[in-house]
Amino acid sequence: MYENIKILKGKRKGPTSIIIGGIHGNETCGVNAVKKIFSTLKIDAGKVIIAFGNPKAIIKKLRFVESNLNRLFRPSKQLSKKEKSSYEYSRMLFLKKYLKQSDFLLDIHASFTPKSRRFIICENNANKIIKYLPFNLVVNGFDAVQPGGTDYHMNKIGKIGICVECGYKDDPKSNFIAEKAIKNFLIATKNIVGNKIQKLQKKIKIYKLYKSKSNIFSLSKKFNDFEIIKKGQKIGIDGNREIRAGKKSIILFAQNTQKIGEEAFLLGEKIK
Ligand SMILES: [Zn+2]
Repeated sequence: MYENIKILKGKRKGPTSIIIGGIHGNETCGVNAVKKIFSTLKIDAGKVIIAFGNPKAIIKKLRFVESNLNRLFRPSKQLSKKEKSSYEYSRMLFLKKYLKQSDFLLDIHASFTPKSRRFIICENNANKIIKYLPFNLVVNGFDAVQPGGTDYHMNKIGKIGICVECGYKDDPKSNFIAEKAIKNFLIATKNIVGNKIQKLQKKIKIYKLYKSKSNIFSLSKKFNDFEIIKKGQKIGIDGNREIRAGKKSIILFAQNTQKIGEEAFLLGEKIK
């Protein structure tokens, strides 16, 4: 069933929105929420496309099978041979056809760190939609430092791409958040009729993605997502080099790595 796409049509004219869960196969809240709306969602206007991101990874409960699907929506000349021969590359091409038909995207994710907060990933073009989503934290800047996701692709072709991180992937509450995010998103896009409630949201802008420069990068401690890092604070050791923060920052998605060029952590700062 995960290969299937569902297209709903409303009685009135309206925009086309696409909802995707399971771009990362082990982030179950998005998969569960999409499964649920697959058979139950009714819309009032426009068109809504419902899709599962990475069917093979969903079945195997893995982040991906051969290549991280959420980095493959970059220009093809930037992708490696390995990436271009992967199962996920063909899936990316398949999903692109549906993104092209859509005005708005909601892509549902979850975090692998137990204490993670829930947040939205988007750029400023999404402001009129995201203020109605059930999240009080918004992170901008990913398109510049970590391109290649579905949202990046949408923004690049002049549409509006929004990713939501619904909390820790094994927290049952993430399922509820994912469902609420879908409903509020479709109200904001006017595909369904409902009450809009505006959320107060804090904004953070990511300014740096650190990729390891040696075969062993190890963090100086376990960092929670959005933990504050002081200027000069040691973040980790890359080979035999100490890596420190150049300014007061927040840290995100920090992990030890065992290969050169792996994503080790992101740094951001608060913006107004
Ligand atoms: Zn994800």
